Amino acid sequence: MGKQVDQEPLGASAPARPLARRGIGQADTEVKLPQGLLGGQQVRVIAGPCAVESREQILEIASFVKAQGAFGLRGGAFKPRTSPYSFQGSQQQGLEWLALARESTGLAVVTEVMDPAMVGMVAECADILQIGTRSMQNFPLLRAAARSQKPILLKRGMSSTLEELLYSAEYILLEGNTQVILCERGIRTFEQETRNTFDINAIPALKRLSHLPVFADPSHGTGKSEYVAAVARAAIAAGADGLLIEVHPRPEQALSDGRQSLDFERFASMMGQIRRIAAALDRSL
Ligand code: PEP
Ligand code: MN
Repeated sequence: MGKQVDQEPLGASAPARPLARRGIGQADTEVKLPQGLLGGQQVRVIAGPCAVESREQILEIASFVKAQGAFGLRGGAFKPRTSPYSFQGSQQQGLEWLALARESTGLAVVTEVMDPAMVGMVAECADILQIGTRSMQNFPLLRAAARSQKPILLKRGMSSTLEELLYSAEYILLEGNTQVILCERGIRTFEQETRNTFDINAIPALKRLSHLPVFADPSHGTGKSEYVAAVARAAIAAGADGLLIEVHPRPEQALSDGRQSLDFERFASMMGQIRRIAAALDRSL
Protein backbone atom coordinates (compact mmCIF):
# COMPACT_ATOMS: atom_id res chain seq x y z
CA MET A 1 0.00 0.00 0.00
CA GLY A 2 1.18 3.48 -0.86
CA LYS A 3 1.96 6.03 1.79
CA GLN A 4 -0.96 8.19 2.92
CA VAL A 5 -0.51 11.70 1.53
CA ASP A 6 -2.51 14.39 3.30
CA GLN A 7 -0.88 17.45 1.81
CA GLU A 8 -0.28 18.39 -1.78
CA PRO A 9 3.29 19.33 -2.57
CA LEU A 10 3.86 23.09 -2.82
CA GLY A 11 4.86 24.41 -6.23
CA ALA A 12 8.58 24.77 -6.86
CA SER A 13 8.18 28.57 -6.72
CA ALA A 14 6.65 28.62 -3.23
CA PRO A 15 8.63 30.65 -0.70
CA ALA A 16 9.59 29.05 2.64
CA ARG A 17 7.03 31.33 4.29
CA PRO A 18 4.00 32.69 2.46
CA LEU A 19 4.29 36.45 1.88
CA ALA A 20 1.10 37.23 3.82
CA ARG A 21 2.37 35.47 6.94
CA ARG A 22 4.15 37.36 9.69
CA GLY A 23 7.76 36.32 10.13
CA ILE A 24 9.20 36.09 13.64
CA GLY A 25 9.50 39.63 14.96
CA GLN A 26 8.26 41.09 11.67
CA ALA A 27 6.74 44.56 12.08
CA ASP A 28 3.28 45.53 10.84
CA THR A 29 3.03 46.51 7.19
CA GLU A 30 1.67 50.00 6.66
CA VAL A 31 -0.42 50.82 3.64
CA LYS A 32 0.58 54.23 2.34
CA LEU A 33 -1.82 56.68 0.77
CA PRO A 34 -1.47 60.40 0.06
CA GLN A 35 -4.05 60.90 2.82
CA GLY A 36 -1.95 58.97 5.38
CA LEU A 37 -1.14 55.47 6.59
CA LEU A 38 -3.35 52.49 7.29
CA GLY A 39 -2.13 49.94 9.81
CA GLY A 40 -0.08 52.39 11.85
CA GLN A 41 -0.69 53.95 15.26
CA GLN A 42 -3.91 55.60 14.11
CA VAL A 43 -7.22 53.81 13.90
CA ARG A 44 -8.87 54.70 10.57
CA VAL A 45 -12.54 54.88 9.75
CA ILE A 46 -13.77 54.49 6.17
CA ALA A 47 -17.44 55.40 6.01
CA GLY A 48 -20.13 56.00 3.45
CA PRO A 49 -23.18 54.51 1.83
CA CYS A 50 -23.42 50.92 0.66
CA ALA A 51 -24.09 52.28 -2.83
CA VAL A 52 -23.44 55.61 -4.47
CA GLU A 53 -26.97 56.75 -5.35
CA SER A 54 -26.64 60.32 -6.59
CA ARG A 55 -24.23 63.21 -6.70
CA GLU A 56 -26.07 64.98 -3.87
CA GLN A 57 -26.20 61.84 -1.71
CA ILE A 58 -22.48 61.09 -1.91
CA LEU A 59 -21.44 64.72 -1.40
CA GLU A 60 -23.72 65.08 1.63
CA ILE A 61 -22.39 61.89 3.22
CA ALA A 62 -18.75 62.64 2.37
CA SER A 63 -18.78 66.06 4.00
CA PHE A 64 -20.52 64.71 7.11
CA VAL A 65 -18.20 61.74 7.68
CA LYS A 66 -15.18 63.94 6.98
CA ALA A 67 -16.33 66.40 9.66
CA GLN A 68 -16.66 63.47 12.09
CA GLY A 69 -13.04 62.40 11.53
CA ALA A 70 -13.33 59.71 8.86
CA PHE A 71 -10.21 58.92 6.84
CA GLY A 72 -11.93 57.48 3.81
CA LEU A 73 -15.18 57.44 1.88
CA ARG A 74 -16.71 54.11 0.93
CA GLY A 75 -19.43 53.64 -1.66
CA GLY A 76 -20.12 51.01 -4.28
CA ALA A 77 -20.63 52.09 -7.87
CA PHE A 78 -20.73 48.50 -9.13
CA LYS A 79 -22.75 46.46 -6.64
CA PRO A 80 -22.65 42.68 -6.25
CA ARG A 81 -26.34 42.09 -5.47
CA THR A 82 -27.74 38.70 -4.51
CA SER A 83 -30.75 39.28 -6.76
CA PRO A 84 -30.24 40.46 -10.34
CA TYR A 85 -33.43 42.52 -9.91
CA SER A 86 -31.92 44.63 -7.10
CA PHE A 87 -30.23 47.98 -7.76
CA GLN A 88 -26.92 47.17 -9.43
CA GLY A 89 -25.25 50.50 -8.69
CA SER A 90 -24.85 53.81 -10.50
CA GLN A 91 -21.84 52.32 -12.32
CA GLN A 92 -19.52 54.66 -14.27
CA GLN A 93 -21.56 57.69 -13.24
CA GLY A 94 -21.08 56.64 -9.61
CA LEU A 95 -17.31 56.60 -10.07
CA GLU A 96 -17.48 60.20 -11.31
CA TRP A 97 -19.51 61.24 -8.28
CA LEU A 98 -16.99 59.53 -5.99
CA ALA A 99 -14.16 61.44 -7.65
CA LEU A 100 -16.09 64.69 -7.07
CA ALA A 101 -16.54 63.79 -3.39
CA ARG A 102 -12.80 63.19 -3.05
CA GLU A 103 -12.09 66.57 -4.66
CA SER A 104 -14.39 68.36 -2.28
CA THR A 105 -13.34 66.57 0.95
CA GLY A 106 -9.88 65.07 0.44
CA LEU A 107 -11.15 61.71 1.70
CA ALA A 108 -9.57 58.53 0.28
CA VAL A 109 -12.10 56.75 -1.93
CA VAL A 110 -12.75 53.02 -1.47
CA THR A 111 -14.93 51.28 -4.03
CA GLU A 112 -15.50 47.73 -5.20
CA VAL A 113 -14.29 46.18 -8.43
CA MET A 114 -16.08 42.99 -9.51
CA ASP A 115 -14.71 42.33 -12.98
CA PRO A 116 -11.07 41.97 -14.10
CA ALA A 117 -11.94 43.90 -17.28
CA MET A 118 -13.09 46.89 -15.20
CA VAL A 119 -10.02 47.24 -13.00
CA GLY A 120 -8.54 50.01 -15.14
CA MET A 121 -11.71 52.08 -15.05
CA VAL A 122 -12.34 51.65 -11.32
CA ALA A 123 -8.68 52.23 -10.42
CA GLU A 124 -8.81 55.61 -12.16
CA CYS A 125 -11.22 56.83 -9.49
CA ALA A 126 -10.43 54.68 -6.45
CA ASP A 127 -7.63 55.24 -3.94
CA ILE A 128 -8.29 51.72 -2.60
CA LEU A 129 -9.89 48.89 -4.59
CA GLN A 130 -12.33 46.77 -2.62
CA ILE A 131 -12.62 43.07 -3.35
CA GLY A 132 -15.96 41.91 -2.00
CA THR A 133 -16.78 38.81 -0.02
CA ARG A 134 -18.26 37.10 -3.10
CA SER A 135 -15.06 37.72 -5.07
CA MET A 136 -12.44 36.69 -2.51
CA GLN A 137 -11.52 33.61 -4.50
CA ASN A 138 -11.89 35.13 -7.96
CA PHE A 139 -8.20 34.61 -8.66
CA PRO A 140 -8.05 36.35 -12.06
CA LEU A 141 -9.72 39.39 -10.41
CA LEU A 142 -7.21 39.34 -7.54
CA ARG A 143 -4.33 39.30 -10.01
CA ALA A 144 -5.78 42.05 -12.21
CA ALA A 145 -6.56 44.26 -9.21
CA ALA A 146 -3.07 43.70 -7.80
CA ARG A 147 -1.46 44.77 -11.07
CA SER A 148 -3.16 48.18 -10.85
CA GLN A 149 -0.72 48.80 -7.97
CA LYS A 150 -3.55 50.39 -5.99
CA PRO A 151 -3.97 49.34 -2.35
CA ILE A 152 -6.51 46.52 -2.07
CA LEU A 153 -9.10 46.05 0.68
CA LEU A 154 -9.67 42.31 0.63
CA LYS A 155 -12.84 41.12 2.31
CA ARG A 156 -13.08 37.68 3.81
CA GLY A 157 -15.32 35.33 1.86
CA MET A 158 -18.52 34.74 3.83
CA SER A 159 -17.76 31.02 3.94
CA SER A 160 -13.97 31.19 3.90
CA THR A 161 -11.46 30.32 6.58
CA LEU A 162 -8.74 32.70 7.66
CA GLU A 163 -6.21 30.48 5.92
CA GLU A 164 -8.14 30.85 2.65
CA LEU A 165 -8.26 34.63 3.15
CA LEU A 166 -4.49 34.69 3.58
CA TYR A 167 -3.99 32.63 0.43
CA SER A 168 -6.14 35.13 -1.48
CA ALA A 169 -3.93 37.94 -0.13
CA GLU A 170 -0.99 35.87 -1.35
CA TYR A 171 -2.24 36.14 -4.96
CA ILE A 172 -2.08 39.93 -4.65
CA LEU A 173 1.30 40.01 -2.91
CA LEU A 174 2.77 37.69 -5.54
CA GLU A 175 2.04 40.32 -8.20
CA GLY A 176 4.40 42.63 -6.34
CA ASN A 177 1.63 44.67 -4.71
CA THR A 178 2.36 44.84 -0.97
CA GLN A 179 -0.54 47.18 -0.17
CA VAL A 180 -3.19 44.77 1.10
CA ILE A 181 -5.71 45.37 3.88
CA LEU A 182 -7.53 42.32 5.27
CA CYS A 183 -11.17 42.82 6.25
CA GLU A 184 -13.37 40.68 8.49
CA ARG A 185 -17.01 41.24 7.43
CA GLY A 186 -18.86 38.38 9.09
CA ILE A 187 -19.35 34.78 8.09
CA ARG A 188 -22.31 32.47 7.47
CA THR A 189 -23.44 30.54 10.53
CA PHE A 190 -26.75 29.02 11.65
CA GLU A 191 -27.64 32.21 13.56
CA GLN A 192 -30.63 34.11 12.15
CA GLU A 193 -30.86 37.20 14.37
CA THR A 194 -27.99 38.81 12.52
CA ARG A 195 -27.27 38.83 8.78
CA ASN A 196 -23.79 37.38 9.32
CA THR A 197 -21.82 36.39 12.41
CA PHE A 198 -19.00 38.87 12.93
CA ASP A 199 -15.98 36.72 13.80
CA ILE A 200 -14.28 38.74 16.51
CA ASN A 201 -11.65 35.98 16.79
CA ALA A 202 -10.50 36.86 13.29
CA ILE A 203 -9.11 40.19 14.49
CA PRO A 204 -6.44 38.95 16.94
CA ALA A 205 -5.86 35.84 14.85
CA LEU A 206 -5.15 37.81 11.66
CA LYS A 207 -2.98 40.28 13.58
CA ARG A 208 -0.92 37.35 14.83
CA LEU A 209 -0.79 35.34 11.60
CA SER A 210 -0.15 38.26 9.26
CA HIS A 211 1.71 41.58 9.15
CA LEU A 212 -1.01 43.18 7.01
CA PRO A 213 -3.45 45.80 8.38
CA VAL A 214 -6.73 44.33 9.61
CA PHE A 215 -10.06 46.12 9.21
CA ALA A 216 -13.51 45.27 10.53
CA ASP A 217 -16.86 45.76 8.79
CA PRO A 218 -19.50 45.56 11.50
CA SER A 219 -22.19 46.80 9.08
CA HIS A 220 -22.16 43.60 7.01
CA GLY A 221 -20.97 41.69 10.08
CA THR A 222 -24.28 42.31 11.85
CA GLY A 223 -26.74 43.49 9.19
CA LYS A 224 -28.62 45.62 11.75
CA SER A 225 -27.80 49.23 12.54
CA GLU A 226 -28.62 48.81 16.23
CA TYR A 227 -25.72 46.35 16.64
CA VAL A 228 -23.11 48.12 14.54
CA ALA A 229 -21.62 50.45 17.17
CA ALA A 230 -21.23 47.64 19.74
CA VAL A 231 -19.38 45.40 17.29
CA ALA A 232 -17.32 48.35 16.04
CA ARG A 233 -16.22 49.01 19.63
CA ALA A 234 -15.39 45.34 20.13
CA ALA A 235 -13.34 45.20 16.93
CA ILE A 236 -11.22 48.20 17.89
CA ALA A 237 -10.79 46.81 21.40
CA ALA A 238 -9.66 43.52 19.82
CA GLY A 239 -6.92 45.28 17.84
CA ALA A 240 -8.44 46.18 14.47
CA ASP A 241 -6.60 48.90 12.56
CA GLY A 242 -9.79 50.41 11.23
CA LEU A 243 -13.46 50.17 10.43
CA LEU A 244 -15.58 50.09 7.30
CA ILE A 245 -18.98 51.56 8.19
CA GLU A 246 -22.14 52.06 6.13
CA VAL A 247 -23.72 55.48 6.67
CA HIS A 248 -26.81 56.98 5.06
CA PRO A 249 -28.65 60.19 5.97
CA ARG A 250 -32.01 58.44 5.43
CA PRO A 251 -31.38 54.70 5.87
CA GLU A 252 -35.04 53.82 5.23
CA GLN A 253 -34.68 55.27 1.72
CA ALA A 254 -31.33 53.66 0.90
CA LEU A 255 -31.22 51.69 -2.36
CA SER A 256 -29.13 49.00 -0.68
CA ASP A 257 -28.31 47.85 2.86
CA GLY A 258 -30.45 50.51 4.56
CA ARG A 259 -31.22 48.11 7.41
CA GLN A 260 -27.57 48.09 8.50
CA SER A 261 -26.71 51.71 7.68
CA LEU A 262 -26.10 54.21 10.48
CA ASP A 263 -27.84 57.56 10.24
CA PHE A 264 -25.75 60.65 10.92
CA GLU A 265 -26.61 60.78 14.61
CA ARG A 266 -25.68 57.17 15.22
CA PHE A 267 -22.47 57.54 13.23
CA ALA A 268 -21.39 60.60 15.23
CA SER A 269 -22.09 58.78 18.48
CA MET A 270 -20.10 55.71 17.35
CA MET A 271 -17.14 57.91 16.39
CA GLY A 272 -17.05 59.38 19.90
CA GLN A 273 -16.98 55.89 21.42
CA ILE A 274 -14.29 54.64 19.04
CA ARG A 275 -12.14 57.65 19.80
CA ARG A 276 -12.22 56.82 23.52
CA ILE A 277 -11.47 53.13 23.02
CA ALA A 278 -8.58 53.94 20.69
CA ALA A 279 -7.14 56.31 23.31
CA ALA A 280 -7.35 53.60 25.98
CA LEU A 281 -5.14 51.47 23.71
CA ASP A 282 -2.66 54.30 23.09
CA ARG A 283 -3.99 54.82 19.59
CA SER A 284 -5.70 57.81 18.09
CA LEU A 285 -8.33 58.31 15.48
C1 PEP B 1 -20.20 46.26 0.58
O1 PEP B 1 -19.17 46.64 1.17
O2 PEP B 1 -21.20 46.99 0.36
C2 PEP B 1 -20.29 44.83 0.22
C3 PEP B 1 -21.01 44.42 -0.83
O3 PEP B 1 -19.60 44.06 1.06
P1 PEP B 1 -19.43 42.47 1.13
O4 PEP B 1 -18.67 42.09 -0.11
O5 PEP B 1 -18.66 42.27 2.40
O6 PEP B 1 -20.82 41.87 1.19
MN1 MN C 1 -23.38 46.95 1.61
